[in-house]
Amino acid sequence: MESYDTRELQALDARHHVHPFTDHHDLHKTGVRIITGAENIYLYDSEGNKYLDGMSGLWCTNIGYGRTELAEVAKHQMEQLPYYNTFFQTSNVPAIELAEMLAEVTPAGLNRVFYGCSGSDGNDTVVRLVRYYWELNDQPERKVIISRKNAYHGSTMAGASLGGMQAMHAVGGLPIPDIEHIDQPYHYREGGDLDPDEFGLKAARSLEEKILELGADRVAAFIGEPIQGAGGVIVPPDSYWPEIQRICRKYDILLVADEVICGFGRTGEWFGSQTFAIEPDVMTMAKGLSGGYQPIGAVMISDRVAEVIDREGKEFTHGYTYSGHPVACAVALKNLQILRDEKIVETARDQVMDYLQSRFRELADHPLVGEVRGKGFLGALELVKDKGTKEKFDDSGKAGIACRSACADNGLIMRAMGDSMILCPPLIISREQVDELMDKLGTSLDQANTVLRGH
Ligand SMILES: *Cc1c(COP(=O)(O)O)cnc(C)c1O
Repeated sequence: MESYDTRELQALDARHHVHPFTDHHDLHKTGVRIITGAENIYLYDSEGNKYLDGMSGLWCTNIGYGRTELAEVAKHQMEQLPYYNTFFQTSNVPAIELAEMLAEVTPAGLNRVFYGCSGSDGNDTVVRLVRYYWELNDQPERKVIISRKNAYHGSTMAGASLGGMQAMHAVGGLPIPDIEHIDQPYHYREGGDLDPDEFGLKAARSLEEKILELGADRVAAFIGEPIQGAGGVIVPPDSYWPEIQRICRKYDILLVADEVICGFGRTGEWFGSQTFAIEPDVMTMAKGLSGGYQPIGAVMISDRVAEVIDREGKEFTHGYTYSGHPVACAVALKNLQILRDEKIVETARDQVMDYLQSRFRELADHPLVGEVRGKGFLGALELVKDKGTKEKFDDSGKAGIACRSACADNGLIMRAMGDSMILCPPLIISREQVDELMDKLGTSLDQANTVLRGH
């Protein structure tokens, strides 16, 4: 094994590297963890430590690490054609083949794709695309996009504006104009006395209230993640999405599903839209699209919207240098072929998913755990000081941080979102590995409980 001078690398990182979503003052006190390798569902750091990756990188390595076929495809494509653009009436073979594959695996009616490099730029594309659509349909005043509080749609100006995180809006003077936010379907904290389905309807109907307040003739689209990911894995009640869908249809508003996390098997079906019977007009994808092996994102466009794009004399003045990047497309295509041919999504669903969810729910009895929630290969534990009253330890997220660092000490990578611990393992996780994960997590919860309560 290669050896690394961790202290030297940490010092260089501190001197020259600015990290996403990081308190640098804090970071410099401890130093970065330097990940040097990965295989299957395990990560290795520069100190020789091994971790079970309970987060799939950042919700993306659905297929796991170490698939050499993807490296071979990338090498071959770089030798054949490392780059060319897709502007100016040109295309390339991987971009074309991936487009065909995406039309095949995504839900019916979604047959066209616009490529980008990430989920964030995909949602920038969404903002421009849906406004362009209404302009071409002679309703240019339909500009408003309705999203939800605590949603996550990326970190660009438009992505963060669509997102419903106040701390993000505060950086950079967001949101941009004509973005509105309604309540999220977060039953544990916001459901009051309502049962989940009553609450789901109530949360969905806040969309109708917002539409009526604005005037339907001003609303272009609604955007939502089938399950809110970065907001803390908020799984909506069953009543929620059918009602959202009904309201969008009633007022002729485009429905955008942000499938950046839910797409490619995460919820037990290929797409979250299938799990919740959503029929989106537009779908944002990234993360699992390449399994994290290349930066690539894509926006799927329904036939209804595509028809308008095909109209005469109306250029869509939008695009990225790397839209349809041949290497990224070739790797994404191979990733999807592996998912399909090895039946990774179906095997994970039929053999591991229920086991993962039931083992996870066993943690509900733990004194730190207020709620266990999840679906498919997503889950969250919400940590509380008092299970009865749902009281938190504080507003700084210290319970989450205590649990997260205990996990790392026990060789498990989990993420804390406030006081929620997030679970998002690769789809290739086995039942034995689920046991290993749950054992480590249980031990970590006990240790965090001791730290937090001081006994
Ligand atoms: C991660 C994420 C994004 C942003 O994707 P990036 O590739 O980080 O730009 C957008 N939407 C959702 C739902 C996400 O989870």
